Amino acid sequence: MSQLILNLDKLRHNIRFLSRHCRKHHLDITGIIKDPCADPKMIRQMMELGFKNIGISRVPDGPIIRSVFPKRPIYISLPSIHELPAIVQCFSISFNSEMTVIEQLNQTAISMNCPHSILLMVDTGDLREGVMPDQVVETVRKIHQLTPRAIEFAGIGTNLGCCAGTVPDEYNLGLMARLADQIESELDIEVNTVSVGGSVLLEWMQHKPLPGRINNIRLGESVFLGTIPTINQVHPNLDTRVVTFRSDILEIKDKRITPPQLCGKDALGGRPQFTRLGIRKRAILNFGICDTYPLGLTPLIPGMEIVSVNSNYTLADITDCRHRFKVGDFVDFTMNYQAFLQSFISPFTRIRYQKEPDNTAVL
Ligand SMILES: *Cc1c(COP(=O)(O)O)cnc(C)c1O
Repeated sequence: MSQLILNLDKLRHNIRFLSRHCRKHHLDITGIIKDPCADPKMIRQMMELGFKNIGISRVPDGPIIRSVFPKRPIYISLPSIHELPAIVQCFSISFNSEMTVIEQLNQTAISMNCPHSILLMVDTGDLREGVMPDQVVETVRKIHQLTPRAIEFAGIGTNLGCCAGTVPDEYNLGLMARLADQIESELDIEVNTVSVGGSVLLEWMQHKPLPGRINNIRLGESVFLGTIPTINQVHPNLDTRVVTFRSDILEIKDKRITPPQLCGKDALGGRPQFTRLGIRKRAILNFGICDTYPLGLTPLIPGMEIVSVNSNYTLADITDCRHRFKVGDFVDFTMNYQAFLQSFISPFTRIRYQKEPDNTAVL
């Protein structure tokens, strides 16, 4: 089994820094973990060190574990109309953009006699979910006119840097602030939360203030990887080594690398590449696409190169490595967000806590 090694000290550093930084900008943080079955220790760190709530993007199989989530977390995806009872039961708030779903959610909350709030998503230019800005006031009016009404209108939210790669700017941030003011002045309905995400906002916040109305930020990648997506930067105050992917070597053989006479595709439908020909030292590692996103991994060992990936193996060329490997050696990798997320949710990757110093892997 491969391992996802979590360094709790480094995680705590990132959570503490982000909590302090966002407090200066008058922002609450929703820590985004996506996975409803995520590691309890990690969630506890987030809640204890200043995050206001936890955001999840999938509906759990069973009830949310109360000892892990003292208050129900937030559902940060659009609910499917077929899953509304589970949404109301497991989550205090869900993100919404469709009136038919909101009406059904209201009915569900009434029949379950369970409080539930909705955050209305607005598309401010990233072309992801959300009502168009000119429909926002009208939609909030409709929500408030539901009778009887069990659901609460919590506020408005938007995503940036996700689908169209839209970065924060005066226009999209200003628009969120204006819409909040407009709802309050035209409808006399309070907008408690104005939420923006995700980590791409951190770049803006290094140089400029956010409009005062924005009071919540949703952060995922930066917490775990210390990076700012969309602009592909490392945040100067964050630790990039919170998580490490650890595999072990199952086979080491010298192989003659030559393209086969008749060459088809590999297990994943890709065209095999034969860049370094002749006798090469090849290692087979114990993970594939069932365990992570192998192409999002970068080996920590100089000279190692991933050359092929299938469902259960990853093949590495180790000819140019100085170290003499043996079967059973541990090999560590840093991860991009896709690799991190997929190893995090894979039942085949075990989470392990790292106590420093840890010299078990070959480096
Ligand atoms: C995943 C997600 C985030 C977190 O984005 P990062 O860039 O990883 O910080 C925020 N909001 C929503 C709705 C998401 O789905």
